[in-house]
Amino acid sequence: TDVPGITLNSGATIPQLGFGVFQIDPSETAETVQKALEIGYRHIDTAQMYGNEAEVGEGIRNSGIDRGDLFVTTKCNNSNHGRLDSQKALDESLEKLGLDYVDLYLIHWPLPGKDLYVDTWKGFEEAAADGKTRSIGVSNFQEHHLERLFAETETVPAVNQIELHPHLQQMAMRSVDQRHGIATEAWSPIGQGKGVIDEPTIEGIAKKHDKSGAQVTLRWHVQLGNIVFPKSVTPSRIQENFELFDFELSDEEMSSIGELERAERLGPDPDQFD
Ligand code: NAD
Repeated sequence: TDVPGITLNSGATIPQLGFGVFQIDPSETAETVQKALEIGYRHIDTAQMYGNEAEVGEGIRNSGIDRGDLFVTTKCNNSNHGRLDSQKALDESLEKLGLDYVDLYLIHWPLPGKDLYVDTWKGFEEAAADGKTRSIGVSNFQEHHLERLFAETETVPAVNQIELHPHLQQMAMRSVDQRHGIATEAWSPIGQGKGVIDEPTIEGIAKKHDKSGAQVTLRWHVQLGNIVFPKSVTPSRIQENFELFDFELSDEEMSSIGELERAERLGPDPDQFD
């Protein structure tokens, strides 16, 4: 089954399901990315911070898939904030990836203590105008960080990539994003594989559909409209996480997953993280 596309405010289309490569060791990255592409994934989420962009590029080249059929995201590292530094960092990413452009370039964290994210965003606008990235977006932005971009720059981010899973459902940020035409991407969509996907509610629903807890959790995201890119290095799980489009959760199942909210972060609070 084809992965649905979501149209971004830039006009580009992003596959709603992709493949995340955080914490994939560089020595395993090329073959894992190639495996994901063979299974059918066409969207890869990497970052300068992950230290595996060169190997992502190698996996892409080894797959033989046309560049135009892929959607590649990378993220500006925290050490590269600033108008010029963020552009220089993107040049380095393109070199490592072996690509002429990325599809999406994100500010990885707002780092409010540094107070450089507005300047960084101006650098991103220039990088997009130069054709080095098709779309630009942010990650881990709260409403007040977005408000500064709206007030001080020209471009509304295409996406906001935030921690989001059944234990941290981000109702408020999802509606802020939606109100401004920003697509929400969910990081750690299956809660890093523990705690969320083995919730009895999720296991019960999984049993009914003859699916796994991971598949039910990812399907919940898909039905909410979130963009997801689960990570795995295990071929059978990479395959499993791709099989989300042959079943549907009922309204009742969606709301029982909704009741698992705990406002519980696995990662840092963006306002406390510098
Ligand atoms: P995830 O929720 O995708 O969980 C991945 C882990 O779950 C794997 O390591 C594995 O242990 C387990 N797993 C995977 N598939 C499974 C399955 N079918 N059944 C059982 N267990 C399974 O967590 P993540 O890697 O943190 O997040 C996904 C992606 O989000 C990352 O790879 C990265 O691209 C992105 N991310 C972004 C940020 C950010 O700050 N922007 C932070 C974290 C992650």
